[in-house]
Amino acid sequence: MKANEIHDLDSVQQVSNMKYIDNYYSRTKSVQVASASLGEKLSAEVCVIGGGLAGVSTALGLAERGRSAVLLEANQIGWGASGRNGGFVASGFSQNPLVLIEKLGLAHAKQLYTLTQKAYELIQLRVKDVEAEIKSPIQGTVTASWFNDSDGLQDYIHTMNTEFGESFEYWSKEKINDMYLTSRYHCGYLEPDTSHFQSLNYALHTADMASNAGARIFEQSPVTKVVGINSDSARWKISTPNGEVTADHIVYACSGYIGSLQSKLSRATLPVATYVLLTEPLGARLKTAIRAPYAVSDNRFSSNYYRIVQNDQLLWGGRVSMFHPSQQALKKIMLKDLLSVYPQLQGIRGEVAWGGYMGYARHKMPQLGQLKPGEWYCQGFGGHGMATTTMGGELIASAIANNDDTWQAFAPFGLDYVGKPFGPVIAQLAYWSYQIQDAIKSQLSR
Ligand SMILES: Cc1cc2nc3c(=O)[nH]c(=O)nc-3n(C[C@H](O)[C@H](O)[C@H](O)COP(=O)(O)OP(=O)(O)OC[C@H]3O[C@@H](n4cnc5c(N)ncnc54)[C@H](O)[C@@H]3O)c2cc1C
Repeated sequence: MKANEIHDLDSVQQVSNMKYIDNYYSRTKSVQVASASLGEKLSAEVCVIGGGLAGVSTALGLAERGRSAVLLEANQIGWGASGRNGGFVASGFSQNPLVLIEKLGLAHAKQLYTLTQKAYELIQLRVKDVEAEIKSPIQGTVTASWFNDSDGLQDYIHTMNTEFGESFEYWSKEKINDMYLTSRYHCGYLEPDTSHFQSLNYALHTADMASNAGARIFEQSPVTKVVGINSDSARWKISTPNGEVTADHIVYACSGYIGSLQSKLSRATLPVATYVLLTEPLGARLKTAIRAPYAVSDNRFSSNYYRIVQNDQLLWGGRVSMFHPSQQALKKIMLKDLLSVYPQLQGIRGEVAWGGYMGYARHKMPQLGQLKPGEWYCQGFGGHGMATTTMGGELIASAIANNDDTWQAFAPFGLDYVGKPFGPVIAQLAYWSYQIQDAIKSQLSR
């Protein structure tokens, strides 16, 4: 692998002072946020560590509630998963809602799901004045079924619509095949209440809103150490190479990039790498494959997700791996996946491909809570973090500012050990076994 390729994936040990990697979002970034590197000693009520969507949403929530907040980001705002993802914004979690019903009962599952729907609405309000910079004008995501199980899919849609207030619309084989010209899809459904974001602009805009509301934002400021100042009063000293913050509360929002900063959180976080490809402009060829404007994800464990950007380019995501291929190899791998769905696009080229770490918990649900009084965490959003990070930020901000204990609804999802140092190997093996299960299920359903 050549230097400066996706080298930030080589190590999850607190990489710092890095610039945005080359990807679709950094290439089309148009929102700025005023920030500096911390070079002084500061005092604040709250210090948020990590400037991804979880961190900036928490800082915004605190500032809107009149609390003084300092945010420290090791690299740049949105440098991690938040500024390099698929850009799909939807309610729900990485964990399937039916599993939540089974584990928690219907009422509790509904309570959690509703929190994500509220977060989705709040996000739409927050981007209202800057939609052109952030939001695709097209709403809606199609979930395409790789399997011939129309009855099972319709049962699922029924539960989502009746119990969770969604308005999913079933698509027959004829309909989906008319819109997406591939033999892979058997049926599907449209989720109309979803949107698609320029995720880096969105992270920067949220940070800018936080800054305008009074939060102090610092980039290139990796936190190297956190210590409690004394045992009887909750007060923390947070150190960076050139500065220091003292605060009554800290919030860890470092996700898959936490490295060894906090051992309990690190042990409970599995950084799972996943990848995205941006194709060259496809012009008229795009319509030989895709005739609908909606974003798509399929329903395999090892799913692909994709959407059209810049009128005729495909942003194609998928795969999970502990092996980090070079940019060139990654482009080839991702193109191969794309062509396995749309062989008629043979010969198209990839423009850029990249990867990022999602921070997963074993239970695939967000981890929100306190290690000690004043020592908070807001992490574990996995592959479904665009809306849930806003939810997490709001819950933690409201807990600190107003003693609101709604975050306790997530208490069943704790800091389970993810099996490090073998966690990534286990995740890779699980992914391969899911791929095999997907292939068998697909064959059986033909
Ligand atoms: C390729 C890819 C595609 C995805 N697609 C989607 C999608 O379409 N829809 C969706 O909902 N979700 C998607 N996700 C998941 C989503 O992006 C994440 O769940 C979400 O962005 C997590 O936000 P976060 O703030 O918790 O973490 P991050 O955005 O990773 O932010 C963590 C930040 O903490 C900083 N940090 C770490 N250690 C320190 C330290 N010691 N000091 C200071 N700062 C530190 C890092 O530099 C980083 O900026 C995708 C993720 C990836 C990687």
